[in-house]
Amino acid sequence: MNYYIKYFGCDMNKSDAQRICSVFDSMKFKKTENIFDADAIIILACSVRQSAVNRIYEVFRKKKIKKSAIKILTGCVLKKDIQKLQKIFDIIIDITKIKNLPKLIKEKKFYNYNPEDIDYLKIIPKQSDNLLALIPISNGCNNFCSYCAVPYTRGLEKNRLAKEILNEVKKLPKNIKQVTLLGQTVNSYINPDKNSRIKDFSDLLEAVAILKPDMWINFMAPYPTKFNNKLIKVIAKYNNISNHIHIPLQSGSDKILKIMNRQYNSGQFLEIIKKIYTAIPDANITTDVIVGFCGETEKDFKDTLNILKKAKITLVYSGLYSPRPQTLAYKMYNDNVSQIKKRKRDEKMTKLIAKQSLERNKKYLGSVVKVLVTNKSKKGIYLGKMQTYETVKIFNAIDCDLGQFVDVKINKALEWGLEGKIIK
Ligand code: SF4
Repeated sequence: MNYYIKYFGCDMNKSDAQRICSVFDSMKFKKTENIFDADAIIILACSVRQSAVNRIYEVFRKKKIKKSAIKILTGCVLKKDIQKLQKIFDIIIDITKIKNLPKLIKEKKFYNYNPEDIDYLKIIPKQSDNLLALIPISNGCNNFCSYCAVPYTRGLEKNRLAKEILNEVKKLPKNIKQVTLLGQTVNSYINPDKNSRIKDFSDLLEAVAILKPDMWINFMAPYPTKFNNKLIKVIAKYNNISNHIHIPLQSGSDKILKIMNRQYNSGQFLEIIKKIYTAIPDANITTDVIVGFCGETEKDFKDTLNILKKAKITLVYSGLYSPRPQTLAYKMYNDNVSQIKKRKRDEKMTKLIAKQSLERNKKYLGSVVKVLVTNKSKKGIYLGKMQTYETVKIFNAIDCDLGQFVDVKINKALEWGLEGKIIK
């Protein structure tokens, strides 16, 4: 029997997909990349954008899918979407209940979708990436940003025991070179074990850095106001904690931040960025922006560009706003920025970021940087990542092993990366 699995959205879903692979392996199913061969098709949905939900329907428009294939839906699913998606899927299961899949598959039974516990995180994931391990430390979120469905789909934040997280890190195979700690607001982590010396996210990050000195450690995604001095100090102290720092801004307009229900204003955001640059001068800061949120004027958008400039952001994961049912923004505000305007603003932002990224990359010209070799292109060119997340093309690598750390002299700076040669 074969299973086909597809996830949409963020790294949390990717990590959950790895756990589902472990469950299917335990049932002696074989993984297939070909949906037509599959006896079980598992989709991890993402409710952040309507487009991600629409893509689920596209998967099942393929005519050659086996009629007998069991179709399973999990991930972030809104109650409203469940009603429609029930017509396609045999099983809709909350991610926290995937341990029950063997029984449900046997019975082909519909299962109630109701987030409850995080026990499922104890399932050791089948790491699908040879170099990078994703380790969830919490699930859910308490913030209720007005555009976001996560608190409704994944429930309120629940934290794993630090002991359990460190145990998972300890058992990672030797080939893993990078560890990403995951949580919807990863830095609001509090260890549920009150007797442990690991109290909060900074303590946990430090413990992971000490436990795996040869691995690069990073985390995704922090909430700005939880980025405190203690955390900045820990990042600055350990060489193996990545200086790539991703902090979601969402908007640079105080008016928009307020209706988004984000708990900071643009000035406070910049304060945090300033503290980071002071303690970690080579920090590479990236962010998320929602373009064209309800009521966003040209002036509001300019405010966003202004903050991106001041914070010297080098990469933005942007999304054109689309309302999600069940969220406050869907109920209360008008999605009144046209699609054309959203696209134009997005293009403008991309141009600015490309310029800023090039500026930063130029600083590396002539210097030697440590690179983790991650890919080999079809043309035989190797690609790698710096500790600060920049992509480096390596031209003189011969028979390089993926997962090797090499010293590269940078001779070309581009908008979205660097080029260089390994030095002996
Ligand atoms: S912080 Fe806001 S955007 Fe992020 S998961 Fe929580 S509610 Fe959603």
